[in-house]
Amino acid sequence: MLIGGEIGEGKGGKSIEVKNPATAEIVDSIPRGTTADVDAAVEAARKALPAWSALPGTKRAQLMHAAAEKMKAAVPEIAKLLSQEQGKPLAHAVLEASRVAENLEYYAGLADKIRGDYVPLDDPAKFGLTIRRPVGVVAAITPWNFPLTLMANKICPALAAGCTVVLKPASTTPLATQRAIEVINSAGFPAGVLNTVHGSGAEIGDALVSHKLVNKIAFTGQTETGKRIMKLASDNVTRVTLELGGSDPMIVCDDADIRRATAAAAIGRFFNAGQACLAVKRVYVFQGVADEFMTKVADRASKEWKVGNGLAEGVKMGPLHSESQRAEVEGQVAEAVTRGAKVLAGNKRPEGKDFEKGWFMEATVLTDVPEDSRMATEEVFGPAMPIFIVNDLDEAIEKANRSVYGLGSSIWTRDLAKARRAVELIDAGYTWVNDIQVAYDQLPFGGAKQSGFGKEHGLEALEGYMEKKSVVLATG
Ligand code: NDP
Repeated sequence: MLIGGEIGEGKGGKSIEVKNPATAEIVDSIPRGTTADVDAAVEAARKALPAWSALPGTKRAQLMHAAAEKMKAAVPEIAKLLSQEQGKPLAHAVLEASRVAENLEYYAGLADKIRGDYVPLDDPAKFGLTIRRPVGVVAAITPWNFPLTLMANKICPALAAGCTVVLKPASTTPLATQRAIEVINSAGFPAGVLNTVHGSGAEIGDALVSHKLVNKIAFTGQTETGKRIMKLASDNVTRVTLELGGSDPMIVCDDADIRRATAAAAIGRFFNAGQACLAVKRVYVFQGVADEFMTKVADRASKEWKVGNGLAEGVKMGPLHSESQRAEVEGQVAEAVTRGAKVLAGNKRPEGKDFEKGWFMEATVLTDVPEDSRMATEEVFGPAMPIFIVNDLDEAIEKANRSVYGLGSSIWTRDLAKARRAVELIDAGYTWVNDIQVAYDQLPFGGAKQSGFGKEHGLEALEGYMEKKSVVLATG
């Protein structure tokens, strides 16, 4: 834990063992926090707030740029830890760790550009101003699928805005996050600006969310957890940003570039072993190109997505993160198959000595999946892609919008009119046209419907860590 500038063991004297999902071996352990540690961390953040928020933006920016340089140097060390605790291939972990430095730089560039407005009023003896103030102490809570990216999405705009932070990573992936925060903090942030506590969501998470001195909760995780956090936050009317589950539809029209669409579908579904919020989770393909699309995507699934230990050479897909996560996805696939779905690829565990102890699953593609099955109605957080055949765009959009989620979406077509219709009518926070689902620092990202609200990335995320205050100046 990092509390008030000190790396320590916390007050409980217990620890959490972190296991490698590829081997079930213990990677390392980390101190298990108590609610007393939550109090200490929040109080440290509160104490650091006045000086940090009063520091000129250029100084905050300098520290963040320095932190980015330190983070770049630490990428190899942190990426290895991330691969070991999360399961993802090392190359993908390197990308993720590098993204932290990029995110720091993006928001460092904005830290000295925060300003307000001059507002003329009806009364000529007065004028109005708006100023922006940091929201205060931020509780940042992150899941296990992209621990570093989702941490950076919160701490970088918060620091730029002048907020202080208490971060709680998922208890199965605390190691890379803790190390990254230590590296960032070593750039010279004042004690208490950045704090971490570790422990279960039910104990540490609840205590953090309910804390009276916390002014904003930035949460990424399951929709059910988000609902609980909203309820707890209501007691103190604490602001919340919720980045929750998704079930992104991908629409493939009969004029689409099928080669590129199948590549995007495979990356969109199998990257991070399908454990991504933004991911191709339901494919709606037009009848005329359905056979070609299904053959090509099944071929990619079986030939291109080599499964294995994330640290092994050439592996493109690691294990699922836990036994229960694999059981959940296998259960969703089994229900569809029992009800008549046809398996085009995968739907089995890889065999051999290297796979005995980990939670591996092959890239899976299904069609004829019932539209009221779990794969169609729930979030599938693993490497299994259901393909549905549709007759036209209206049917595709209507089915795309049936989900309770509304995070990402994509359409593949050469017809600009079709693309525009999809962009305007799909209920989601993001629509990609003829492109893979990759999020950009510059574009706001966030969900519609039960995928949550509030934005990460872009100027909008920074806005979410500030409050606008109106000022009237009487000059008469
Ligand atoms: P969870 O909701 O289970 O956990 C997320 C974090 O919340 C963890 O740190 C967890 O702690 C903590 N937590 C759990 N219960 C509480 C509580 N009562 N109060 C406060 N904190 C709590 O999500 P997963 O880790 O399973 O993550 C996967 C989910 O995240 C998927 O649904 C995915 O779609 C979503 N997600 C959304 C993204 C988005 O931007 N919209 C991006 C990435 C993922 P602990 O694990 O220690 O118990």
